[in-house]
Amino acid sequence: MERTIATIIHDLQQCHTISDEELILLLNKDSDALFTAADSVRKKVYGNDVYIRGLIEFTNYCRNNCYYCGLRRGNDTVIRYRLSKEDIIACCTEGYELGFRTFVLQGGEDFHYTDHDMCDIISTIRTLFPDCAITLSIGERSRASYQAYFDAGATRYLLRHETATDAHYKALHPDDMSLENRKQCLYTLKEIGFQVGAGFMVGAPGQTIENILADLRFLQELKPDMVGIGPFIHHHATPFRDMPNGSVELTFRILAIVRLMLPHVLLPVTTALSTCFEHGHIKGLCAGCNVIMPNLSPKNVRKHYNLYDNKHSSGTEAAEHLARLKREVAQAGYQIVTARGDVIKE
Ligand code: SAH
Ligand code: SF4
Repeated sequence: MERTIATIIHDLQQCHTISDEELILLLNKDSDALFTAADSVRKKVYGNDVYIRGLIEFTNYCRNNCYYCGLRRGNDTVIRYRLSKEDIIACCTEGYELGFRTFVLQGGEDFHYTDHDMCDIISTIRTLFPDCAITLSIGERSRASYQAYFDAGATRYLLRHETATDAHYKALHPDDMSLENRKQCLYTLKEIGFQVGAGFMVGAPGQTIENILADLRFLQELKPDMVGIGPFIHHHATPFRDMPNGSVELTFRILAIVRLMLPHVLLPVTTALSTCFEHGHIKGLCAGCNVIMPNLSPKNVRKHYNLYDNKHSSGTEAAEHLARLKREVAQAGYQIVTARGDVIKE
């Protein structure tokens, strides 16, 4: 007898394995039951708490040329900037006063900052803000570099795998990048002891439902502590300028499925999702998310960190409007907390 959506969700909620066909059924059909189940699983592990992370986009230089990204090195229309250590510390100081206890240092792959520079920045933040977590999102590096950052005091690392299918990875990146290296970096980071975040874009050009299936299966295998998933949004100065944006409905569904597959995961509502969908952060929380990452970068550089067109960095995306965000989140029945918000291990 054909199984209903309700029984499939129930099985997923009980951590039973479900087949590829059943997963595809969940991916293809909007179902309130899916969101309700994801919300209740999140509540069981993390309650109504929502963790906030202060996002500091400290460099928009990048040596890579990913076809989808506005910061790719081939885009010569970008006004490039780098923040100094002092600029970064000023962001942290402002963030700390606002209640942030995690700082996320994100940027292109910019080797202008040597390992020595990065370790100096990390250990200074560590010393000045001992009760805060430091997350890095600076791409693919060597094991020695990752180890040095960890020893300096960074404990989390976000590195989306982008797609778990080789052919699709090749369609999104030039030949000098490989899925194999990307995955290897994730396993290395895990071995070193980082809380690791993987993830992908929904609706990336060429993505099939089978690709999404492979992404979900890869997440089940890797068991990351964090998962970043947002819709693809085209950027006007990239090879994918004419490609359609990803579906927000599908993104919400995938987020809910990830919450059910990995009950303990830290799951942010991404800026891309909030950019595409008004009140995306609230709908994201209702779909099982429990992290929001407001922008702490200096206001004068925000407009230059354009991974995609119309990227939001004001409104509730901006750290300085935290009071408004807190109000909206509270109205929806959740609460923003002042805490490091480490992953709760099983
Ligand atoms: N350079 C680092 C971190 C910055 S990019 C890295 O690549 O890991 C952070 C994420 O932004 C990427 O992992 C990618 O998934 C996402 N991104 C890039 N271009 C995008 C686009 N056009 N639409 C949506 N997300 C995008
Ligand atoms: Fe660089 Fe990251 Fe953009 Fe790729 S996605 S071009 S690595 S900033």
